[in-house]
Amino acid sequence: MGHTRRQFLALAAAVCAGPALPRLAAAQSPARVVVVGGGFAGATCARFLHRADARIALTLVEPNPTFTACPFSNAVVAGLRDIRDQRFGYQALSAESIKVVQAAATGIDPPGRQVHLAGGASLPYDRLVLAPGIDLRWEAIPGYDEAAAEKMPHAWKAGEQTLLLRRQLEAMADGGVVVMAVPANPYRCPPGPYERASLIAHYLKTHKPRSKVLVLDAKDTFSKQRLFTDAWGQLYPGLLEWVSLSQGGKVISVDPGTNTVSTDFEQHKAAVVNVIPPQRAGRIAELAGVADRTGWCPINPVSFESQLQPNIHVIGDAAIAGAMPKSAFAANAQAKICAAAVATLLRGGTPADPVLVNTCYSLVAPDYGISVAGVYRPKGGQLTDVEGAGGTSPPQAPPQTRALEAQYAEAWFRTITNEVFG
Ligand SMILES: Cc1cc2nc3c(=O)[nH]c(=O)nc-3n(C[C@H](O)[C@H](O)[C@H](O)COP(=O)(O)OP(=O)(O)OC[C@H]3O[C@@H](n4cnc5c(N)ncnc54)[C@H](O)[C@@H]3O)c2cc1C
Repeated sequence: MGHTRRQFLALAAAVCAGPALPRLAAAQSPARVVVVGGGFAGATCARFLHRADARIALTLVEPNPTFTACPFSNAVVAGLRDIRDQRFGYQALSAESIKVVQAAATGIDPPGRQVHLAGGASLPYDRLVLAPGIDLRWEAIPGYDEAAAEKMPHAWKAGEQTLLLRRQLEAMADGGVVVMAVPANPYRCPPGPYERASLIAHYLKTHKPRSKVLVLDAKDTFSKQRLFTDAWGQLYPGLLEWVSLSQGGKVISVDPGTNTVSTDFEQHKAAVVNVIPPQRAGRIAELAGVADRTGWCPINPVSFESQLQPNIHVIGDAAIAGAMPKSAFAANAQAKICAAAVATLLRGGTPADPVLVNTCYSLVAPDYGISVAGVYRPKGGQLTDVEGAGGTSPPQAPPQTRALEAQYAEAWFRTITNEVFG
């Protein structure tokens, strides 16, 4: 009755035929991929890796039981949206056999291929995807540390900080000045500070019209600048003032005790201060040895594999993605390319050159949206703009066009959050 040895070998060959993972055949166990960070980049990557090859043993490591999304959090700051609409759970990922471990990764051992977790456990991997987003550079602006952020919120990681800034705006008297400090490039969401300034101005216009928002900037140009400044002239004259680097806009220190912000030329005592400090890749990237001296992570633009450590891929805000901005749209796009590349590499294949797309919407008012889009592909070891592709919303456009773009922005957010968490 029993199989002969020859039959058994033929059967084994048949089972292993097709796109079997090399290590599956060798070690009789599925390839192990650990994804650190369950935000737009990490959660997307885990889902798409599972779709690319359901045999991969996938673990997603994320300390928070619920993800709070930054896109549209400026609308929460302005009182136009409930923070509950920003929150998403990981149930859909768990239901797809992705093991979600609720813990922070505290260390990485690249030669031993292990992720160390808070609490002492470790996870082995064949390939690791790091998607930790950003950390804030405390003290890059003298006086701005974690304690100062409780008085002068950054609200650049959504959640309690978003609500704190909202409460401060609600509590301030009409006639107060809201000061925003905006960093030099690169940072998370290039148009985000200007969307925030716009929506705060909208709140002041409709609730505290004798007040003003003063934007102190560490640079001279910014994303969608003409579209923003045209709209500010139309919608918020006298309510929103932008001070560029060359006009002395760079904030050089803050004093949370007196709510004062200093530039080289002036001191501003404000009713509300929103400091968006300089940033870098989430700390675990540095601990893994994948961040360079800039604080961000150089990657191979085809596979998103680190240029500094083999078998570790970095996606989302933490990565140096050339011309691509640090956005949720970009993080999601990079995650899909990375997932396909990791699955291909585990099969022993070579990932193909990708083409990536990004669109960043911003709201200037609830019914006034603008956007910038770009297309990117690897060239000379970097992701570069495809010339002639992409662009911004038209500079002169009727209100209906702006209203439609505000709807597209909402539709984009619904679509992406459904794809990642739904
Ligand atoms: C105000 C604001 C508005 C924005 N608006 C837009 C917009 O309209 N459109 C757009 O495309 N983008 C927008 N963005 C940018 C967008 O939020 C980010 O680009 C995006 O979140 C990046 O995704 P990510 O996965 O790299 O990081 P995140 O989404 O921040 O996810 C990182 C995750 O990693 C986890 N993590 C960190 N360290 C560890 C660790 N050691 N162990 C385990 N887990 C860890 C974190 O808890 C977090 O869940 C906005 C940002 C801000 C601040």
